[in-house]
Amino acid sequence: MRKIEAMYTASAVLIMLVFHAVYSKGGLAFGYVNIFLFPIAAAAYLCTKRFLLFFAAAFTCILYPVFTAVYEIDGLNAAMPIVTFGSLLFATFAYKSFAERLNKDWEETIAKAETAKRDKVREFERLVSFENDVRDKELKIISLYEITKQMSESLKFEDIFNVLGVFLKDNFTFRRCELVILKWDHPAARLDRAYSIWLEPPAGERRNKTDHEALIKMLSDDRKVTHLTRDADPAAFTDLALEDEINEFAAIPLLSENKMVAILTVENMPKTDLGKLVILSAQFALEIKKVLLYETVEELALTDGLTGLFVRRYFMERFNEELYRSKRYKFKFVFLMIDIDDFKKCNDTYGHLVGDVVLKETGRIMKDSIREIDLASRYGGEEFALVLPETTREGARLVAERIRKRVEDNIFKAYDEKLKITVSIGMSVYPEDTSDSRGMIETADAALYMAKKSGKNIVCEYKK
Ligand code: GH3
Ligand code: MG
Ligand code: MG
Repeated sequence: MRKIEAMYTASAVLIMLVFHAVYSKGGLAFGYVNIFLFPIAAAAYLCTKRFLLFFAAAFTCILYPVFTAVYEIDGLNAAMPIVTFGSLLFATFAYKSFAERLNKDWEETIAKAETAKRDKVREFERLVSFENDVRDKELKIISLYEITKQMSESLKFEDIFNVLGVFLKDNFTFRRCELVILKWDHPAARLDRAYSIWLEPPAGERRNKTDHEALIKMLSDDRKVTHLTRDADPAAFTDLALEDEINEFAAIPLLSENKMVAILTVENMPKTDLGKLVILSAQFALEIKKVLLYETVEELALTDGLTGLFVRRYFMERFNEELYRSKRYKFKFVFLMIDIDDFKKCNDTYGHLVGDVVLKETGRIMKDSIREIDLASRYGGEEFALVLPETTREGARLVAERIRKRVEDNIFKAYDEKLKITVSIGMSVYPEDTSDSRGMIETADAALYMAKKSGKNIVCEYKK
């Protein structure tokens, strides 16, 4: 900027000298003018102060008429250098102030633009982080929606817990997560089943050592989410028998209608993540409740209310499955038809309520006398049917005789009454006696009829 100003002033002085040389006819008079004008021009160049410029303009305006009057100089010749110098000086001044204003405006504009740019950058950054937030939340909502959907499609604890496991593994760090299903034997709860998910499954079989009884006791009173650390709660860690690798332990009670139906435990999950899991657990509790309800309904539909044995319809389904399996793998299996002897008399003597207790107790004796894989059903009023898969005639004989003997030996106690009853049992063996379900029932029935005819309290095998 200074260079341009210097060039302006220098060119003003130069032009003035040229004009002076060409038009100077006033001799001394112009010499004086120059003597004044040179330092003024120099001062204007060096300082560019406004008052100097005004001073220069006033000086020329006052001196011009004086010199022209005193020395009778030709007006045009005398005015030329002064007018030129004055206008150049004015141009310099105008340029200078214009440049200053422009510069100032420009700096202000740049400053404003920079502030605006900074604001925009900040706004942009805010938008980007907002977008990321939204995307993050969207992903979480999608995955939450997905797991809720998947859970709602499952009717088994294993399935809904596996869905939860996939979600946990994708979103959290932890060592192991466990779902503890409770069974309520009023007034206390006890362990029914437990399922585990490991973030990194341990090599080989790993038995869970957590003391579930202590866990249930710990949460039973206040039923609040509990977070423990080894350093702060060493006593609780000992009570719960938590393994050495566990440093943090959290237990979330899953409540349904104000009743604790299950407990979700998680090992070594940072406390900061626990809140998210707690939010999710409310939905999870609903799913648990649904499965529990489903199990109850299924149990009601499949089992007889009095004896707890399978109802006839469901038993027949399972019986046919067993027949198909035995055909396929060439297994033997045995069908037993059991009927209480003189039950009508029992009812007539002691009443139906006592009769009901006898039925229930007989069912229990049968269930206790067979294996887990055997099927037991209440086939009719006081008739029971059993299927003993992969069993030979000899094996079945022992089982049937055991049941008969246990019933015979049992003293049934009901409503202050003590009584004894007996059962008769008919037996048929697949595939020796017959090879279809109807045939099995008919032959076992025929054998039962033989038992009744033989004096009751006896096991009879079907004979062709
Ligand atoms: P048998 O030795 O020949 O089998 O004689 P029974 O008296 O046992 O045979 P019957 O078929 O004549 O009688 C069966 C009785 O079982 C009749 C019925 O009232 C009774 N009964 C059927 N279902 C129930 C039940 O749910 N509760 C009770 N208390 N009695 C039942
Ligand atoms: Mg009968
Ligand atoms: Mg009977």
